[in-house]
Amino acid sequence: MGKSIIYSILFLKCPQCREGEFLEAHPYKLSNMNKVKKNCPKCQLKYSIEPSFYTGSMYVSYGVGIAVAVAVYVLTLIFGLDFGPTGILTSIVIALIITMPYIGAVSKSIWAHFFFKYDPNILKKAA
Ligand SMILES: [Zn+2]
Repeated sequence: MGKSIIYSILFLKCPQCREGEFLEAHPYKLSNMNKVKKNCPKCQLKYSIEPSFYTGSMYVSYGVGIAVAVAVYVLTLIFGLDFGPTGILTSIVIALIITMPYIGAVSKSIWAHFFFKYDPNILKKAA
């Protein structure tokens, strides 16, 4: 049963088997914030190619952050909310603060999905 890459990224799954968990804990568990596991618990994929491999995901989180900001702005337009420039800026900042842990997690997930290829048969091979 193949799972889509969108599912895998949004639900923070292993990029190779799309089954195993990618993070040590939930993104909103702040003590363990966005800690990537060493290996996939299902297919044993090593999640890190080199030390500080996930530093590059910072660039991805920029893009995701901007996407969230644009989404908030578009929503205020759709709902016809007239907050004025300061109000819109405030709502964007609040939205970014609320979604920040998830943005960080998704960015690492996107980053990993760039580098590792999906192998739908990996779990069958290992068995
Ligand atoms: Zn896996």
